[in-house]
Amino acid sequence: MKIVPLPLHLEPREGRLDLLDSAFNYSEELANAAAIFQDFLKKETGISLRKEKFAKFNFLLDFSLQREEYRLEISENTLTLSAKSDQGALHGVRTLQQLLEYDGGRFYFPAVYIEDAPHFPYRGFMLDIARHFFSKRTIMRLIELASLHKLNFFHLHLSDDQGFRFESEKFPRLTEVGSTRRGTILKDGTVDGVPHSGYLTKADLKEIVAYAERLHIEVIPEIDMPGHMNAVLAAYPELLCEGIKEEIEVRPAWGISKNILCAGNEKTYSLLEELLAEIIEVFPCRYIHLGGDEAPKANWKKCPRCQEKIRKEGLKDEEALQAHFLNHFSKFLEGKGKTVIAWNDGLHPDLDPDIIIEHWKPGTRRKTVKAVNSGRKVVMSDFLHLYLDYPYAMTPLAKTYGFNPLEGVEKPENILGIEANLWTEWVATPEKIEFQVFPRLAAAAEVGWTAPELKDYDNFLSRLEHLYAIYQKKGVNYARGKEKKPNILKRIAGTRRWLRDENAEFREN
Ligand SMILES: [Zn+2]
Repeated sequence: MKIVPLPLHLEPREGRLDLLDSAFNYSEELANAAAIFQDFLKKETGISLRKEKFAKFNFLLDFSLQREEYRLEISENTLTLSAKSDQGALHGVRTLQQLLEYDGGRFYFPAVYIEDAPHFPYRGFMLDIARHFFSKRTIMRLIELASLHKLNFFHLHLSDDQGFRFESEKFPRLTEVGSTRRGTILKDGTVDGVPHSGYLTKADLKEIVAYAERLHIEVIPEIDMPGHMNAVLAAYPELLCEGIKEEIEVRPAWGISKNILCAGNEKTYSLLEELLAEIIEVFPCRYIHLGGDEAPKANWKKCPRCQEKIRKEGLKDEEALQAHFLNHFSKFLEGKGKTVIAWNDGLHPDLDPDIIIEHWKPGTRRKTVKAVNSGRKVVMSDFLHLYLDYPYAMTPLAKTYGFNPLEGVEKPENILGIEANLWTEWVATPEKIEFQVFPRLAAAAEVGWTAPELKDYDNFLSRLEHLYAIYQKKGVNYARGKEKKPNILKRIAGTRRWLRDENAEFREN
């Protein structure tokens, strides 16, 4: 039985359940998962299930299970899926989607007994729609595919130096000015001169959130601050530090900008508070991501207002000012029932202990693990394993699969889970997104779902082919032939080639 991610406990049984009878009984609490199951069966087999009290197919409530847990028993006579919540039942439906077989004459489910639950409570995917804008439709398709992999968080990177993608009614210039750049930098260092533009309206985002909610995926909005803010600064240059003369534009180039928000200007705090209030009206998610990465402090060192803030608050230096800045918004959002996530660049002794850290930065894992062991909650998005924007030569499927979030960790309960990230500097089309993401997201999903000691790469590969058949049916442009572990020379050559030509691997697919 070929299921990805690998279930916790699976016993194949003798026989099979043929899909002949269409009677289906389910608890009302599991009606949403039941409807998704019915839609799936109808589409795949043409069979319409009808609700009846005595049925071969049963979705039952079982309060002895955990929220995301499910139990599936299939015999020659019945199929029983038990769960405590609709979310648990939906995980069971995702498993059933992978179990359905066809022998040329009939559809059937093989007899099996499964007890399954995720190892980590947080299993996420991040899409950057700032560097390249992607439509509501593309995002919703990715949410559906994330659900197929039993993920439960979808992190939307909504703003960066190269574009602001959230419609704000209070600050219309954020999209009037901030959502368009004059061009996009190419690998040879020239700018193409083709304006790049786009943003999601509140109605779009509400539709996305509602769609995700039905699939038990929480959508986490990210407004990256105080760095990565050129799109906002282009719209509201008064938020720059004192003495900055240059005109700020929505950046056509990638990399890190030296211009960041002034942390000594009260206007910065009031604008962001009002903006965040608008954001949480649209996103009911318990988490808000505030970035906090790659914020050079040169402007703050020279800015009289930032220096005054440091003196007034009794802070040690500019790094402490960034912690103070993030703590301010963490407190503001805490008052609204939200918890802040920040990239691990922002780790600082003064940082609010309730802020969850998302670990990504190469060379900092020891520091992150130290924070985990002293009580900090962390999501692992390790650059070398879980950054899906890099070529397969650099980050092969096996490398992603091999990631152990618990390495060196003494307090495993503080590792909330993992997130696979797709930055889109070099990803301009939905087809390229799918190429970069699949099948590496299947590997990441298993890292998040399956206990580290149960993972086995060859075993994963033996199940993956079955998932490819589902990708094909859904028309997913997944990367072919990436299963073998490439040797180091091939990896170096492939990475070098990507540095010159970002579409080299993609074109070969
Ligand atoms: Zn300043």
